[in-house]
Amino acid sequence: MVKTAMIVVDVQRDFCAGGALAAWDTPSLLAPLQECIDVARRSGVTIIFTQDWHPANHNSFQTNGGKWPIHCLENTPGAELMPPLCAAAGDIVIHKGTAVDGEGYSGFDSTGLEARLRELRFGRVSVAGIATEYCVRATALDANRAGLETILLTDLIRPVVETAAPKVLTELGRAGVQLMPSPRWLLLLKK
Ligand SMILES: [Zn+2]
Repeated sequence: MVKTAMIVVDVQRDFCAGGALAAWDTPSLLAPLQECIDVARRSGVTIIFTQDWHPANHNSFQTNGGKWPIHCLENTPGAELMPPLCAAAGDIVIHKGTAVDGEGYSGFDSTGLEARLRELRFGRVSVAGIATEYCVRATALDANRAGLETILLTDLIRPVVETAAPKVLTELGRAGVQLMPSPRWLLLLKK
């Protein structure tokens, strides 16, 4: 079997309902995502959690001339994984956007993730999480560019703007990312 990882992008308190930069309809994401993670772990998939992890002077913040409200400050509750999600032994946790500069949208941007996946001989990744048109998009495109077979779990992603998803799915599909609902992906793991 091709060694497989599941990248769970930025499912953090600040990006969920009630947070500083909440995406659309996150409450409906958490239970099915956790269930998928559980089944994937039991099937031998390595879970990779990415977390936006910014210093207070990050250039993406409006207070520093950027686009976004202050969110996911390093070592604060807003940057924590949103319960019930929780990293377990054997999972990989990636902090991104840790420097002052750069958007830090992709889990592969200055994090060493590509080298790590290559070293551990992963051939395939699935991608889920928040937000579809920013960090999920960038992470899936980079995984695909890195030569990994990349599967976007279409039911386990949430955009900032509700209507943003179709355009992103089209773009990712054209780039070579496979689009698939998570139940189908989990079935494929068993083959
Ligand atoms: Zn950010």
